[in-house]
Amino acid sequence: MSTLRLEIVTPERKVYEKDVNMVVVKGVGGELGILPNHVPLVTPLKIAPVKAKIDGKDEYLAVHGGFMEVRKDKVVILAEAAELGHDIDVVRAQQAKERAERRLTDRSTELDHKRAELALQRALSRISAAGGE
Ligand code: ATP
Repeated sequence: MSTLRLEIVTPERKVYEKDVNMVVVKGVGGELGILPNHVPLVTPLKIAPVKAKIDGKDEYLAVHGGFMEVRKDKVVILAEAAELGHDIDVVRAQQAKERAERRLTDRSTELDHKRAELALQRALSRISAAGGE
């Protein structure tokens, strides 16, 4: 089965570099499945899990926004933060989720709504990626 090289890079490190059969991402315009020889494209990504298909198996990564560049046999994702599903600390993500939910429902405090909303999305994405979804 043909493959393409998937690289996921953050300012701190290269989180992922593997030959995969397919990459599924959530772009700002919707879900995109990238196969080898896809037309070149650049798109911003949502805060959502990225799925890599390798020999019939799926690997999930939590990728927190950023951009994807598709070239002939290569997909590069640049994001502020990204974690492989099995590296995710689910307890920490649950705590972050609860903290963000509290902030979003607590009307008594001066609140940065957008910031809490983004923290909630990161936490939900981490929980999904850790659970293989
Ligand atoms: P928290 O409130 O728990 O710190 P956060 O969403 O504010 O979560 P980020 O600022 O997105 O955290 O990430 C900071 C660093 O910590 C990044 O390197 C990120 O990969 C890592 N990180 C954050 N949450 C987790 C997690 N649940 N499991 C593994 N790594 C995590």
